Amino acid sequence: MLLVEGLRARYGRIEVLHGIDLAVNSGEIVTVIGANGAGKTTLLRCLSGVHPVAGGSVTFRGEGMAGVPAWRRVGRGLAQSPEGRQIFTNLTVEENLRLGAYLFADGRVEKDMEDAFQMFPILKEKRNLAAGGLSGGQQQMLAMARALMGRPSCLLLDEPSMGLAPIIVAQIFDVVKGLKALDVTVLLVEQNAYGALKIADRGYVMETGRITMEGPAAELIADPRIREAYLGI
Ligand code: ATP
Repeated sequence: MLLVEGLRARYGRIEVLHGIDLAVNSGEIVTVIGANGAGKTTLLRCLSGVHPVAGGSVTFRGEGMAGVPAWRRVGRGLAQSPEGRQIFTNLTVEENLRLGAYLFADGRVEKDMEDAFQMFPILKEKRNLAAGGLSGGQQQMLAMARALMGRPSCLLLDEPSMGLAPIIVAQIFDVVKGLKALDVTVLLVEQNAYGALKIADRGYVMETGRITMEGPAAELIADPRIREAYLGI
């Protein structure tokens, strides 16, 4: 579904992604784990089209993404739930969700919203309240639900566990795992390596702009190098 070949990215003259190769197959949950500053967010931003690519290629559902602006990628089924959630704090929960569906003007939007509320019942309770008043966990749920309102076939999920209590993290990861049943393919970027590998089919390890390991998630969890460097075991 998503193929990344030799991807390079820079900030100014400094290259931070040095030729990333990865693939996400339809129906998979794939995670990219790595320490703070490894380049995970930059990778996702290149995939969604909000950061320029300095080399290599991104192919989504067989189509090269070079020159395709971010908003068109959403229309093609590639949506991002960004780092830091980036919700519109002055708008209500419902208005945030409607913005996720801005490409559509059909009757399915209401049904999609009901589906989102079923996935995250707390959002239904708070639908008419300003999103800025939500807790961190609720804002994360809103960011994910908003991305899903765009009806993605592939969801790019940037550190959904960041700054959240373990019980909320568990809830969020459960929802991510459940996306499989909804035919949403997931590329999940996480510093919480254990939580991410537990729900993923495959994983990649990123270190200072390079992929250094990859494999089935169960193998990565069992690998002594991963256990020492990322799982603290
Ligand atoms: P985090 O978990 O903190 O988000 P990350 O793995 O997502 O880390 P990136 O945010 O992609 O990593 O950062 C990769 C590198 O690019 C880091 O060295 C970072 O300092 C640098 N970087 C990120 N954003 C900018 C920017 N706006 N300007 C300059 N350098 C940046």
